[in-house]
Amino acid sequence: MRPLPRVLLNSAAIEVWPSWLLAARSNRDARSLARARWVLRRKRDGLYLAADLPEGWLGLTPRWNREPGLDEALDAVDAPLPHAGARDPASLPLHALRERLDALGLDADDYAARSGLPLEPEPRWLAHAGFDRYRRPLWLHPDAARAWARMRAHALRDGIVLEAISGYRSHDYQLGIFARKRARGLGVDAILTVNAAPGFSQHHGGLALDIGEPGEPPAEESFERTAAFDWLRAEAGGHGFVMSYPRDNPHGIVYEPWHWYHVPDASPDANA
Ligand SMILES: [Zn+2]
Repeated sequence: MRPLPRVLLNSAAIEVWPSWLLAARSNRDARSLARARWVLRRKRDGLYLAADLPEGWLGLTPRWNREPGLDEALDAVDAPLPHAGARDPASLPLHALRERLDALGLDADDYAARSGLPLEPEPRWLAHAGFDRYRRPLWLHPDAARAWARMRAHALRDGIVLEAISGYRSHDYQLGIFARKRARGLGVDAILTVNAAPGFSQHHGGLALDIGEPGEPPAEESFERTAAFDWLRAEAGGHGFVMSYPRDNPHGIVYEPWHWYHVPDASPDANA
């Protein structure tokens, strides 16, 4: 039997998920998922499009075979899987994102200049890094996944439990939040005071991780008073993680003591 895939294959509009990591949404889906290796999932809303059965693709939704971006997703399935130990996924192009930002009335270059934040491309694949607090699969850039596992084990030896709140998030996911708020009548500037512009979140690259402590509310400033935060301040740097948004950061982003970024090639075994 082939080993279960532990990567998410990425394309602009559709993600390719290992079926064993997905929960079925109906009895029919359950039967299909049990026999499938991969499932195509629309990024915008998480809709399951089709399952890769031994005898071929089975549609899980009507007209799945006319879904925009389908060819690119199928190409990702047909390409060789990243080998175990692979650590440098290429990035997806940014043109689809720019078109959608224009449609939302958001000037990407203007926002980049104002915030000092770069556009963050998505990787072509992500590594399965366990599960988050909500038992959702946690996806990270392979370097960040390795560093997270190492750092978590180190913390545990020191009696500290670190919990992942959120890792990789797609452009489409962030665009969806933005579009829903626009539809409710909120203006672009109002939304930008609480949400990073789609495309500019460090979570898109899979190198950022929101970290919590069990029993504490997620993504609250009060995290700075936890033992987990004290431990991170002392030890995270040794694992290549830095706090991206300290108080009064130059990007105008609110203080986020829970948000840590893995600096590529900063971990101790980066050259091993
Ligand atoms: Zn974050």
